[in-house]
Parts: sequence; C-alpha cells; structure tokens
Amino acid sequence: MRFDLITIFPEFFAGPLDHGILRRAREAGLVDVHVQDLREFTKDRHRTVDDRPFGGGEGMVLKPEPLFEAVESLLGHGVGDASKPGAPEPKTAIVLMSAAGKLFTQKTARRYAELDRIIFICGRYEGVDERVAEHLATEEISIGDFVLSGGELPAMMIVDAVTRLLPGALGNEASSQNESFSVAVHPESATPLLASGTSHAVLDFPHYTRPAEYRGWSVPEVLIGGHHAEVAKWRRAAAIEKTRRNRPDLS
Ligand code: SAH
Repeated sequence: MRFDLITIFPEFFAGPLDHGILRRAREAGLVDVHVQDLREFTKDRHRTVDDRPFGGGEGMVLKPEPLFEAVESLLGHGVGDASKPGAPEPKTAIVLMSAAGKLFTQKTARRYAELDRIIFICGRYEGVDERVAEHLATEEISIGDFVLSGGELPAMMIVDAVTRLLPGALGNEASSQNESFSVAVHPESATPLLASGTSHAVLDFPHYTRPAEYRGWSVPEVLIGGHHAEVAKWRRAAAIEKTRRNRPDLS
C-alpha cells in the first residue's frame, strides 16, 4: 500500500510516522509513505499556493493548479476529470480532506485497506478551490463534525486506521477483527453480539490487567476465574452495555 500526502507542511508528518505500528509497517515494507511538498508545484518566486476568494470574504483558498499538477506528477499521467465515470486506476483513491466531506468511519477504513494507493490532499486556510473536489479528488472526506486548521492530522489518522487493517501490520492477526466498530460478531463464541439481521457496530469490551485490585477497585470476578465461556458471555454483555451507554446511536 502506498500513501502520498500532499501538504504545504511536509515536516508535519515526521513524528507520527515514526512510532509503533506505523513505523513497523513501514520498516516491514507493508506501507510506503511519501510526503509531497505542494510548493514544488508552484512557478512563481514566492512559491504561492493560495489566493483570495472570488466573491470576497475572509481568508485564503488553496489554488487549483499546484494541486492538480502535484497529483498528476505523482500518478505519472494526466487525471482528466475524476468526476467522470471509469477511473483509469480503480485501486487508487485521491482523497481531499475536508470538514465538508463525507464522514470517515471504520467501514471506510476497511474499503481503503483493499486499495493499492491513496493520495491525500491536505487543505489549509479557508479550504481548497472547489474544482479540486469536483474534478480531481475521487472522494471528499471528513474525519468528524468539527473544524481543524489543516488536513494533515486528518490524513494521518486515516493512514493509521488503514495501516493497522493490513494483513501483518498488527502483531496478532486476530486483533483488528475484535475491535470497536468491527463486525458485530463475538470473537470467541462467534455468535452475533446483537440480534441477528442487524448490521450495527459494537464497541470493544472493557479490558483489565494486573493488579486484580487497585485502590480498592476490583477487576470483575469472572475474568479471573479462567472459565472461557463465562468470560466470553461477560465480554459480550459488557460490550453491548458500553455501546448503549457511550454510543446509543450505534445500537
Ligand atoms: N472553511 C472550511 C474549513 C477549512 S479548515 C469549512 O468551514 O468547512 C482547513 C482545512 O483543514 C480543510 O481544507 C481540510 O483540509 C482540513 N480539515 C478541517 N477540518 C477537517 C475535518 N473535520 N476533516 C477533514 N479535514 C478537515
């Protein structure tokens, strides 16, 4: 899997790429991450990437030309018009990060994990000339209902969420199957966590480790007993209870 991150702040990514699962996945050759400085695709002395909005108003807008040229240079060919059907490279996504985009979820992450390549366009200022969303990006994606100051953190979050779904990225292959938002089937008993026929996601069950008692708070007794079926039953119920409590919208 290859990730390209188009940004005006290439140094931004140094930290997050160099730790934990992402670092291991890069070292193992599972993912190849390329950070592309948008300013390399400017032609003027000031390396201008932004301009004032037509129609007036606050702030600056990222210009279309450097973004189109950056993507075309990364792909090695022209993009034509991404809004027309019949993408030349179906296993490549060109993702515009945008607070006004479609919501990114674990389902999106699973779809992206099947691709060969994702090119992220990180916005700044007031955003990006709309023609990028209309004719260059294959998708416009938001990571949540809030506004950040740039697309770098959102893109990084997606790189992280997708990488950990790639076979071999996690130490224990099974672990990404039993997580929050994974298919609502219990890991150990293989029974659906919710009534059959529902496709709702369920959050992870609560985890505990030693000490068994800390400041007077004990770990649930059933987890210490070592009774496999009882543990599975408790986890199933606890996951459903937690989902109802924290995310009633899911259940
Ligand atoms: N004027 C825009 C916000 C611009 S914020 C609006 O009101 O929608 C600057 C950049 O940060 C955006 O272009 C986008 O790339 C990024 N960004 C901000 N919030 C985001 C979010 N929730 N998801 C994804 N990207 C976001």
